[in-house]
Amino acid sequence: MSITPLMPVYPRCDVRPVRGEGCYLIGDRGERYLDFASGIAVNLLGHGHPKLVKTIADQAATLMHTSNLYGSPLGEAFAQTLVDNSFADTVFFTNSGAEAVECAIKTARRYHYANGEAHRHKIISFDNAFHGRTLGTISATSQPKMRDGFEPLLPGFQVVPFNDLDAALAAIDDNTAGFLLEPVQGEGGVTPATVAFLTGLRKACDEHGLLLILDEVQCGYARTGTFFAHEQYGITPDIMAVAKGIGAGFPLGACLATEEAAKGMVFGTHGSTYGGNPLAMAVGQTVLEEVLADGFLDHVKAMGARLRAALEQLIPNHDAMFEDVRGMGLMLGVKMKDAYDARAFVGHLRDHHGLLAVSAGQNVLRILPPLVIEESHIAECIEKISAGARTFADAKAA
Ligand SMILES: *Cc1c(COP(=O)(O)O)cnc(C)c1O
Repeated sequence: MSITPLMPVYPRCDVRPVRGEGCYLIGDRGERYLDFASGIAVNLLGHGHPKLVKTIADQAATLMHTSNLYGSPLGEAFAQTLVDNSFADTVFFTNSGAEAVECAIKTARRYHYANGEAHRHKIISFDNAFHGRTLGTISATSQPKMRDGFEPLLPGFQVVPFNDLDAALAAIDDNTAGFLLEPVQGEGGVTPATVAFLTGLRKACDEHGLLLILDEVQCGYARTGTFFAHEQYGITPDIMAVAKGIGAGFPLGACLATEEAAKGMVFGTHGSTYGGNPLAMAVGQTVLEEVLADGFLDHVKAMGARLRAALEQLIPNHDAMFEDVRGMGLMLGVKMKDAYDARAFVGHLRDHHGLLAVSAGQNVLRILPPLVIEESHIAECIEKISAGARTFADAKAA
């Protein structure tokens, strides 16, 4: 037998982390990495955050799981805090981002069904989007690497170019339920929606009775310097999927909606065995308290501006390799020139300079540090990228 016990769907690298300390990961040979990947925008409090560790230990000892058959004091409190701090009136808890997007899609279809317009089922989504790996969420993408071999996928999706308002408006027809998009595309290349695009979609939704569904699984939860990225566009969605940072490492997601948009989601329409269990809710509340604490968002904004400026300063010294810096807050990308492969550069930084980052579509080096980084971590990161760029170019020339 040659298949590995772990189904070989990931090209796993040689780094095998066994411990985390703040913004660092320690591998199984004792080697240390500056973790500017954060488990792909998940570990926003870094590793081993004392308050989070204590919450998990205490809640595990008190009550870990019951069932959604019963009332949930912790779930009610956490949902209320999310409602108080967002556009939403109601929340469904999931265990992952894809499940949160699934719930968002179901909520949108159910809304039109409840209005007696079940034919309005089509969701317009966008090129280079990433919404997860379930059959429903891959149906909302156009990327062959995610779709090939899994067809037939779910009908009722139409994918049009991102940041092209005219194309999005032209796709609206009598069957349209709404738009689904990431305000800042993550996997697709750290590409923010333009203000004209996102506000234009909101306006079209208002005019045509459509729902604006945002996927803030990666860009939400303080990552861009505001609690949610859409706040920086001056609009609100009707439905929103959240995950990754919300659990800061514990598997947790959420689908948030306005009362109007959620009007079809009545008893029996949706569910999840684990979703919102007491352990998850205790974690969620602790993470949210940290994120909403005085100064947290200001810190993300300040560190984001610093890191961005430092990355921009690198470019003139390595202008054969780097093109520009993109993104918002601490969700940043460095677009690399065609002659250099971002995925290979990520491997080079990891193996030779002890820096963990991620690659993204469109040949982008994606940088997603914990949101609790300090200036010293930024300096260390810049040093490593700068040294890495030199040795990477040398290796290529050799
Ligand atoms: C990661 C991600 C998802 C999927 O989340 P999972 O927890 O892996 O299911 C969905 N949407 C976006 C924007 C993401 O970045």
